[in-house]
Amino acid sequence: MTLPHDMKTQGNRKTDKAAPFKIAGRTVQPGERVQINLPTANLFTHTQLNMPVEVIHGRVSGPVLLVCAAIHGDELNGVEIIRRTRSFHSLNKLRGTLILVPVVNIFGLIHQSRYLPDRRDLNRCFPGSKSGSIASRMAHIFFNEVVKRCTHIIDLHTAAVHRDNLPQIRAALDKPGVKDMAMGFSIPVIINSGLIDNSLRAEAGKLGIPVITYEAGEALRLYERSIVSGVRGIVSVMRTLHMLPSKRIKTVKAEPYIAKSTSWFRAPMDGIFRPLVKLGTQVNVGDTLGVISAPFDSEETALIVKEGGIVICVSKLPLVNEGEALFHIAHFKEAHAVEAEIAEHGSNIEGDRLYEIETVPVSVMDT
Ligand SMILES: [Zn+2]
Repeated sequence: MTLPHDMKTQGNRKTDKAAPFKIAGRTVQPGERVQINLPTANLFTHTQLNMPVEVIHGRVSGPVLLVCAAIHGDELNGVEIIRRTRSFHSLNKLRGTLILVPVVNIFGLIHQSRYLPDRRDLNRCFPGSKSGSIASRMAHIFFNEVVKRCTHIIDLHTAAVHRDNLPQIRAALDKPGVKDMAMGFSIPVIINSGLIDNSLRAEAGKLGIPVITYEAGEALRLYERSIVSGVRGIVSVMRTLHMLPSKRIKTVKAEPYIAKSTSWFRAPMDGIFRPLVKLGTQVNVGDTLGVISAPFDSEETALIVKEGGIVICVSKLPLVNEGEALFHIAHFKEAHAVEAEIAEHGSNIEGDRLYEIETVPVSVMDT
Protein backbone atom coordinates (compact mmCIF):
# COMPACT_ATOMS: atom_id res chain seq x y z
CA MET A 1 0.00 0.00 0.00
CA THR A 2 1.30 3.47 -0.86
CA LEU A 3 0.91 6.09 1.81
CA PRO A 4 -0.48 9.53 0.94
CA HIS A 5 2.28 11.96 0.10
CA ASP A 6 2.91 14.66 2.68
CA MET A 7 6.10 16.57 2.02
CA LYS A 8 5.16 19.59 4.07
CA THR A 9 7.16 20.53 7.13
CA GLN A 10 6.07 18.98 10.41
CA GLY A 11 6.30 21.51 13.20
CA ASN A 12 9.45 23.57 12.68
CA ARG A 13 11.44 20.67 11.29
CA LYS A 14 12.72 20.59 7.77
CA THR A 15 11.93 17.47 5.82
CA ASP A 16 14.40 15.28 3.97
CA LYS A 17 13.11 12.78 1.52
CA ALA A 18 13.62 9.28 2.87
CA ALA A 19 15.95 6.86 1.11
CA PRO A 20 14.82 3.29 0.37
CA PHE A 21 14.98 1.22 3.58
CA LYS A 22 16.79 -2.11 3.54
CA ILE A 23 15.82 -4.81 5.99
CA ALA A 24 16.07 -8.61 6.02
CA GLY A 25 17.34 -8.66 2.44
CA ARG A 26 14.44 -6.54 1.16
CA THR A 27 14.14 -2.93 0.08
CA VAL A 28 11.14 -0.86 1.13
CA GLN A 29 10.52 2.32 -0.83
CA PRO A 30 9.53 5.63 0.82
CA GLY A 31 5.78 5.65 1.35
CA GLU A 32 5.55 1.86 1.20
CA ARG A 33 4.14 -0.48 3.81
CA VAL A 34 5.05 -4.16 3.61
CA GLN A 35 4.97 -7.34 5.66
CA ILE A 36 8.06 -9.51 5.55
CA ASN A 37 7.90 -13.09 6.73
CA LEU A 38 11.31 -13.65 8.25
CA PRO A 39 12.20 -17.37 8.37
CA THR A 40 13.30 -18.38 11.87
CA ALA A 41 13.43 -22.18 12.17
CA ASN A 42 11.50 -25.30 11.31
CA LEU A 43 9.18 -27.51 13.30
CA PHE A 44 10.00 -31.23 13.60
CA THR A 45 7.66 -31.70 10.66
CA HIS A 46 9.90 -29.44 8.52
CA THR A 47 7.14 -26.82 8.49
CA GLN A 48 8.86 -23.45 8.31
CA LEU A 49 8.10 -20.92 11.04
CA ASN A 50 8.26 -17.25 10.09
CA MET A 51 8.48 -14.14 12.20
CA PRO A 52 6.09 -11.50 10.77
CA VAL A 53 7.77 -8.10 10.41
CA GLU A 54 5.74 -5.12 9.20
CA VAL A 55 7.66 -2.12 7.90
CA ILE A 56 5.95 1.24 7.47
CA HIS A 57 8.43 3.50 5.75
CA GLY A 58 7.49 7.18 5.69
CA ARG A 59 8.28 9.49 2.79
CA VAL A 60 10.29 11.76 5.08
CA SER A 61 13.45 10.54 6.82
CA GLY A 62 13.48 10.21 10.59
CA PRO A 63 13.96 7.72 13.45
CA VAL A 64 13.55 3.98 12.92
CA LEU A 65 11.35 2.77 15.78
CA LEU A 66 10.95 -0.95 16.47
CA VAL A 67 7.94 -2.02 18.51
CA CYS A 68 8.12 -5.72 19.36
CA ALA A 69 6.07 -8.10 21.49
CA ALA A 70 5.93 -11.70 22.71
CA ILE A 71 9.66 -12.19 23.14
CA HIS A 72 8.09 -14.22 25.92
CA GLY A 73 5.66 -16.29 23.89
CA ASP A 74 2.80 -16.27 26.41
CA GLU A 75 2.69 -12.48 26.83
CA LEU A 76 -0.21 -11.48 24.62
CA ASN A 77 -1.17 -7.88 25.46
CA GLY A 78 1.66 -6.61 23.24
CA VAL A 79 0.41 -8.65 20.28
CA GLU A 80 -2.92 -6.84 20.49
CA ILE A 81 -1.24 -3.48 21.17
CA ILE A 82 0.69 -3.83 17.90
CA ARG A 83 -2.40 -4.98 16.01
CA ARG A 84 -4.15 -1.75 17.02
CA THR A 85 -1.09 0.47 16.58
CA ARG A 86 -0.58 -0.69 12.99
CA SER A 87 -4.02 0.57 12.07
CA PHE A 88 -3.62 3.99 13.61
CA HIS A 89 -4.75 6.34 10.84
CA SER A 90 -2.08 9.03 11.36
CA LEU A 91 0.66 6.60 10.30
CA ASN A 92 0.08 7.91 6.78
CA LYS A 93 1.88 11.07 8.00
CA LEU A 94 4.79 9.12 9.42
CA ARG A 95 8.22 10.71 9.54
CA GLY A 96 10.85 7.97 9.70
CA THR A 97 10.19 4.25 9.82
CA LEU A 98 8.05 2.10 12.08
CA ILE A 99 8.88 -1.60 12.35
CA LEU A 100 6.27 -3.79 14.05
CA VAL A 101 7.02 -7.33 15.21
CA PRO A 102 3.92 -8.60 17.03
CA VAL A 103 5.34 -12.05 17.84
CA VAL A 104 9.09 -12.48 18.20
CA ASN A 105 8.93 -15.87 19.96
CA ILE A 106 6.64 -17.63 17.52
CA PHE A 107 7.39 -21.06 19.08
CA GLY A 108 6.44 -19.83 22.54
CA LEU A 109 3.18 -18.38 21.24
CA ILE A 110 2.19 -21.67 19.63
CA HIS A 111 2.94 -23.55 22.86
CA GLN A 112 1.46 -20.80 25.09
CA SER A 113 4.83 -20.70 26.80
CA ARG A 114 7.33 -18.05 27.84
CA TYR A 115 10.17 -20.25 26.64
CA LEU A 116 11.46 -22.01 23.54
CA PRO A 117 11.66 -25.76 22.88
CA ASP A 118 15.26 -25.77 24.17
CA ARG A 119 13.81 -24.41 27.48
CA ARG A 120 15.66 -21.15 27.10
CA ASP A 121 14.32 -17.67 27.76
CA LEU A 122 14.75 -15.75 24.50
CA ASN A 123 15.26 -12.54 26.46
CA ARG A 124 18.43 -14.00 27.97
CA CYS A 125 19.90 -15.08 24.62
CA PHE A 126 20.73 -11.83 22.81
CA PRO A 127 22.64 -11.11 20.65
CA GLY A 128 22.40 -14.82 19.88
CA SER A 129 24.48 -17.14 17.79
CA LYS A 130 24.21 -18.59 14.31
CA SER A 131 25.24 -22.04 15.50
CA GLY A 132 23.55 -22.23 18.93
CA SER A 133 20.37 -24.00 19.92
CA ILE A 134 17.00 -22.70 18.80
CA ALA A 135 16.65 -19.73 21.21
CA SER A 136 20.13 -18.55 20.37
CA ARG A 137 19.52 -18.81 16.61
CA MET A 138 16.20 -17.01 16.85
CA ALA A 139 17.83 -14.24 18.90
CA HIS A 140 20.58 -14.00 16.30
CA ILE A 141 18.15 -13.63 13.39
CA PHE A 142 16.01 -11.06 15.16
CA PHE A 143 18.99 -9.11 16.45
CA ASN A 144 20.88 -8.98 13.16
CA GLU A 145 18.03 -8.61 10.71
CA VAL A 146 15.74 -6.31 12.69
CA VAL A 147 17.22 -4.81 15.88
CA LYS A 148 20.40 -3.54 14.21
CA ARG A 149 18.29 -1.61 11.68
CA CYS A 150 16.64 0.49 14.40
CA THR A 151 17.42 3.72 16.20
CA HIS A 152 14.85 3.26 19.03
CA ILE A 153 13.00 0.27 20.55
CA ILE A 154 9.84 -0.25 22.58
CA ASP A 155 9.67 -3.83 23.89
CA LEU A 156 6.22 -4.97 25.08
CA HIS A 157 5.84 -7.43 27.97
CA THR A 158 3.41 -8.58 30.65
CA ALA A 159 4.02 -10.09 34.05
CA ALA A 160 4.83 -13.79 34.12
CA VAL A 161 2.02 -16.32 34.26
CA HIS A 162 -0.31 -15.91 37.31
CA ARG A 163 0.90 -12.37 37.98
CA ASP A 164 -0.64 -9.04 37.02
CA ASN A 165 1.45 -5.92 36.40
CA LEU A 166 0.21 -2.36 36.70
CA PRO A 167 1.03 -0.65 33.38
CA GLN A 168 4.58 0.65 33.85
CA ILE A 169 7.75 1.52 31.97
CA ARG A 170 11.05 -0.10 32.87
CA ALA A 171 14.18 1.50 31.55
CA ALA A 172 17.81 2.25 32.35
CA LEU A 173 17.27 5.98 32.58
CA ASP A 174 20.95 6.91 32.61
CA LYS A 175 21.48 5.61 29.06
CA PRO A 176 21.39 8.17 26.21
CA GLY A 177 17.93 8.82 24.81
CA VAL A 178 16.17 6.42 27.20
CA LYS A 179 14.71 8.92 29.65
CA ASP A 180 13.06 10.97 26.87
CA MET A 181 11.35 7.83 25.56
CA ALA A 182 10.32 6.68 29.06
CA MET A 183 8.83 10.08 29.95
CA GLY A 184 7.34 10.34 26.46
CA PHE A 185 5.32 7.14 27.00
CA SER A 186 3.19 9.24 29.33
CA ILE A 187 2.09 6.78 32.00
CA PRO A 188 2.31 7.38 35.75
CA VAL A 189 4.87 4.75 36.83
CA ILE A 190 8.47 4.48 35.61
CA ILE A 191 10.90 2.02 37.18
CA ASN A 192 14.57 2.87 36.71
CA SER A 193 15.57 -0.69 36.15
CA GLY A 194 19.03 -2.25 35.80
CA LEU A 195 20.06 -4.22 32.74
CA ILE A 196 20.09 -8.02 32.72
CA ASP A 197 22.91 -9.60 30.71
CA ASN A 198 21.85 -10.87 27.27
CA SER A 199 18.43 -9.23 27.44
CA LEU A 200 17.25 -7.20 24.45
CA ARG A 201 17.49 -4.03 26.53
CA ALA A 202 21.09 -4.70 27.53
CA GLU A 203 22.39 -5.86 24.16
CA ALA A 204 20.62 -3.27 22.00
CA GLY A 205 21.76 -0.69 24.55
CA LYS A 206 25.38 -1.70 23.90
CA LEU A 207 24.83 -0.65 20.28
CA GLY A 208 23.64 2.75 21.50
CA ILE A 209 19.98 2.03 20.74
CA PRO A 210 17.68 3.38 23.47
CA VAL A 211 15.19 0.72 24.61
CA ILE A 212 12.22 1.00 26.94
CA THR A 213 10.13 -1.92 28.17
CA TYR A 214 6.40 -1.57 28.67
CA GLU A 215 5.12 -4.05 31.26
CA ALA A 216 1.38 -4.41 31.68
CA GLY A 217 -1.09 -7.11 32.62
CA GLU A 218 -0.78 -10.85 32.87
CA ALA A 219 0.56 -13.63 30.64
CA LEU A 220 -2.05 -15.50 28.54
CA ARG A 221 -4.65 -12.77 29.07
CA LEU A 222 -5.76 -9.64 27.23
CA TYR A 223 -6.42 -6.66 29.52
CA GLU A 224 -8.10 -3.71 27.86
CA ARG A 225 -6.60 -1.14 30.19
CA SER A 226 -3.08 -2.43 29.50
CA ILE A 227 -3.71 -2.55 25.77
CA VAL A 228 -5.17 0.94 25.41
CA SER A 229 -2.52 2.40 27.68
CA GLY A 230 0.14 0.71 25.51
CA VAL A 231 -1.24 1.98 22.20
CA ARG A 232 -1.49 5.47 23.59
CA GLY A 233 2.03 5.27 25.00
CA ILE A 234 3.55 4.19 21.69
CA VAL A 235 1.83 7.02 19.83
CA SER A 236 2.99 9.42 22.53
CA VAL A 237 6.63 8.26 22.14
CA MET A 238 6.32 8.68 18.37
CA ARG A 239 5.21 12.24 18.94
CA THR A 240 8.17 12.77 21.29
CA LEU A 241 10.49 11.51 18.55
CA HIS A 242 8.74 13.79 16.01
CA MET A 243 7.64 10.79 13.98
CA LEU A 244 4.02 11.92 14.08
CA PRO A 245 2.63 15.44 13.86
CA SER A 246 1.92 16.35 17.45
CA LYS A 247 -0.76 18.95 17.04
CA ARG A 248 -3.11 16.75 15.09
CA ILE A 249 -3.14 13.86 17.53
CA LYS A 250 -5.29 14.05 20.62
CA THR A 251 -3.85 12.17 23.57
CA VAL A 252 -4.45 12.43 27.27
CA LYS A 253 -1.25 13.16 29.15
CA ALA A 254 -0.25 11.47 32.37
CA GLU A 255 2.41 12.79 34.69
CA PRO A 256 5.20 10.19 35.02
CA TYR A 257 6.80 9.50 38.40
CA ILE A 258 10.12 7.66 38.72
CA ALA A 259 10.31 5.11 41.55
CA LYS A 260 13.22 5.40 44.01
CA SER A 261 13.36 1.61 44.27
CA THR A 262 11.12 -1.46 44.32
CA SER A 263 10.85 -4.50 46.59
CA TRP A 264 9.01 -7.84 46.64
CA PHE A 265 6.77 -8.90 49.49
CA ARG A 266 7.21 -12.69 49.87
CA ALA A 267 4.95 -15.29 51.45
CA PRO A 268 5.88 -15.86 55.12
CA MET A 269 4.23 -19.32 55.08
CA ASP A 270 2.67 -21.91 52.78
CA GLY A 271 -1.09 -21.95 52.19
CA ILE A 272 -4.01 -20.33 50.40
CA PHE A 273 -3.36 -16.72 49.47
CA ARG A 274 -5.95 -13.95 49.12
CA PRO A 275 -4.84 -10.43 48.12
CA LEU A 276 -6.82 -7.57 49.71
CA VAL A 277 -5.34 -4.65 47.73
CA LYS A 278 -5.57 -3.73 44.07
CA LEU A 279 -2.87 -2.71 41.63
CA GLY A 280 -2.03 0.98 41.89
CA THR A 281 -3.02 1.22 45.58
CA GLN A 282 -0.81 3.12 48.00
CA VAL A 283 0.07 0.98 51.01
CA ASN A 284 1.70 2.15 54.23
CA VAL A 285 3.69 0.37 56.92
CA GLY A 286 1.26 -1.65 59.05
CA ASP A 287 -1.44 -2.01 56.35
CA THR A 288 -2.72 -5.48 55.46
CA LEU A 289 -1.88 -6.56 51.89
CA GLY A 290 -3.67 -9.90 52.07
CA VAL A 291 -3.93 -13.11 54.04
CA ILE A 292 -2.60 -16.62 53.82
CA SER A 293 -4.74 -19.30 55.41
CA ALA A 294 -4.15 -22.91 56.25
CA PRO A 295 -6.26 -25.02 53.86
CA PHE A 296 -7.97 -27.23 56.46
CA ASP A 297 -8.53 -25.05 59.54
CA SER A 298 -9.33 -21.46 60.49
CA GLU A 299 -5.74 -20.32 60.97
CA GLU A 300 -4.98 -17.11 59.01
CA THR A 301 -1.90 -14.96 58.75
CA ALA A 302 -2.21 -11.31 57.78
CA LEU A 303 0.41 -10.00 55.37
CA ILE A 304 1.55 -6.71 56.88
CA VAL A 305 3.37 -4.02 54.89
CA LYS A 306 6.95 -3.47 56.03
CA GLU A 307 7.88 -0.77 53.51
CA GLY A 308 5.20 1.51 52.07
CA GLY A 309 4.70 2.32 48.40
CA ILE A 310 2.53 1.61 45.37
CA VAL A 311 1.47 -1.95 44.50
CA ILE A 312 2.68 -2.57 40.92
CA CYS A 313 2.34 -6.36 40.69
CA VAL A 314 0.06 -8.88 42.41
CA SER A 315 0.21 -12.66 42.32
CA LYS A 316 -3.08 -14.17 41.09
CA LEU A 317 -2.46 -17.77 42.10
CA PRO A 318 -3.98 -18.67 45.51
CA LEU A 319 -1.63 -21.63 46.09
CA VAL A 320 1.62 -20.35 47.55
CA ASN A 321 4.75 -21.69 49.14
CA GLU A 322 6.81 -19.85 51.70
CA GLY A 323 9.15 -17.37 50.06
CA GLU A 324 7.09 -16.89 46.93
CA ALA A 325 6.87 -13.32 45.59
CA LEU A 326 3.29 -12.06 46.13
CA PHE A 327 3.41 -8.28 45.71
CA HIS A 328 5.85 -5.99 43.93
CA ILE A 329 5.90 -2.60 45.61
CA ALA A 330 7.42 0.54 44.09
CA HIS A 331 8.72 3.18 46.47
CA PHE A 332 8.25 6.86 45.60
CA LYS A 333 8.91 10.17 47.30
CA GLU A 334 5.32 11.26 46.59
CA ALA A 335 3.36 7.99 46.76
CA HIS A 336 0.06 9.77 47.40
CA ALA A 337 0.41 11.84 44.20
CA VAL A 338 1.36 8.71 42.24
CA GLU A 339 -1.74 6.87 43.47
CA ALA A 340 -3.93 9.81 42.40
CA GLU A 341 -2.24 9.97 38.98
CA ILE A 342 -2.75 6.21 38.46
CA ALA A 343 -6.46 6.55 39.28
CA GLU A 344 -6.82 9.50 36.90
CA HIS A 345 -4.88 7.72 34.15
CA GLY A 346 -7.17 4.69 34.53
CA SER A 347 -10.31 6.78 34.10
CA ASN A 348 -8.80 8.68 31.15
CA ILE A 349 -8.11 5.40 29.41
CA GLU A 350 -11.69 4.33 29.80
CA GLY A 351 -12.72 7.47 27.92
CA ASP A 352 -9.96 7.21 25.31
CA ARG A 353 -10.98 6.89 21.67
CA LEU A 354 -7.46 6.43 20.32
CA TYR A 355 -7.77 2.70 19.91
CA GLU A 356 -10.63 2.80 17.46
CA ILE A 357 -9.17 0.99 14.51
CA GLU A 358 -9.61 0.60 10.82
CA THR A 359 -8.39 -2.32 8.77
CA VAL A 360 -5.31 -1.46 6.73
CA PRO A 361 -4.43 -3.65 3.74
CA VAL A 362 -0.75 -4.49 3.22
CA SER A 363 1.26 -6.30 0.58
CA VAL A 364 3.01 -9.46 1.77
CA MET A 365 6.63 -10.19 0.82
CA ASP A 366 7.75 -13.77 1.36
CA THR A 367 11.49 -14.28 1.69
ZN1 LIG B 1 8.22 -10.74 29.37
